[in-house]
Amino acid sequence: MDLSRFPRRRYTEGATPLEPLPRFSAELAAQCPGGRGPEVWVKRDDLLGLFPGGNKTRKLEFLVADALAQGADTLVTCGAPQSNHCRITLAAAVKEGLKCRFVIEERVPGSYSPTGGGNHFMFRLLGVEAITVVPAGSDMAAAMQQVADALAREGRKAYVIPGGGSNALGGLGYVACAQELLQQGFERSIGFDRIVVGSGSSGTHGGLLAGFLGNRVRTPIVGIGVSRDPAEQEPLVHREAQAVADLLGLDLQVPRAAVKTIGGYWQPKYSLPNPMMVEAVQWLARCEALLLDPVYTGKTMAGLIGLARAGFFVPGERLLYLHTGGLPSLFAYQDVVLGDTPVDR
Ligand SMILES: *Cc1c(COP(=O)(O)O)cnc(C)c1O
Repeated sequence: MDLSRFPRRRYTEGATPLEPLPRFSAELAAQCPGGRGPEVWVKRDDLLGLFPGGNKTRKLEFLVADALAQGADTLVTCGAPQSNHCRITLAAAVKEGLKCRFVIEERVPGSYSPTGGGNHFMFRLLGVEAITVVPAGSDMAAAMQQVADALAREGRKAYVIPGGGSNALGGLGYVACAQELLQQGFERSIGFDRIVVGSGSSGTHGGLLAGFLGNRVRTPIVGIGVSRDPAEQEPLVHREAQAVADLLGLDLQVPRAAVKTIGGYWQPKYSLPNPMMVEAVQWLARCEALLLDPVYTGKTMAGLIGLARAGFFVPGERLLYLHTGGLPSLFAYQDVVLGDTPVDR
């Protein structure tokens, strides 16, 4: 597929690494039925640009290019208090000489602190222009539009980016990732039997799926819900994948059966820790020096581990875990991930 007709800024040089996790795969296999498990690899999208980058870097390559084409001077976006998406959007704005404002949804009351650690600290260090904090359940689109309207009254021009950068244009970032992955697999003669990815605002999962379908690739993608169980998450991913496919002019209906997500690993609530996440974060750190985060990648890896133990994967299948980033929020949950603060489920 030719993505070159969509304007794109580049924030990463080259492809992100594809690495095997042999020590982890061996330890995991010992806990799988019959002592045989998947051969796990990781795609290091935590090493994307706009350091410490993550999946939002890929979406922003297309979104920011559109903002610049429209003559915007300010990026406006929204997220949860420890939002990687807000932080990476801000980093892109800085690079492009734009201003940046956020609307933060306090999904957990009292969880945003201007003097807090992790991403909160980085918002200030990178020089966010203004943050509006709204309570859980607020209409985020309306709140961002208010910010944009206020800027317009001052003669400025805002470009509003939806939560997680997950619209059709942002999803193109993961179409590009799908193509990058296929090219890497071709160059290195590695094929993957399945992909495991975190599934939240759905641009990553939906974009990847649209990218595979557009290339006639049938590799199954398993999304691990980070905030919703399948009944709610799958329609969201399906809509996103279809929107991306339509933007690409693929002229195809995304099969509903191609959208698969797993629930049960994000509880008790989005962004709140559980013991399975703590186990996954510690395991990958101590076995592969791979740093996961407590909100997304730790829970996603907990899902991979749980599925493996339950015999979900075919013994010996080659599994690709997509690492989507999130490093800074590790520093907002230090006691929890070290096991010094007990967490119950
Ligand atoms: C936003 C985010 C996700 C979820 O990706 P979506 O495209 O919103 O589904 C996963 N991991 C990290 C680290 C994120 O910041």
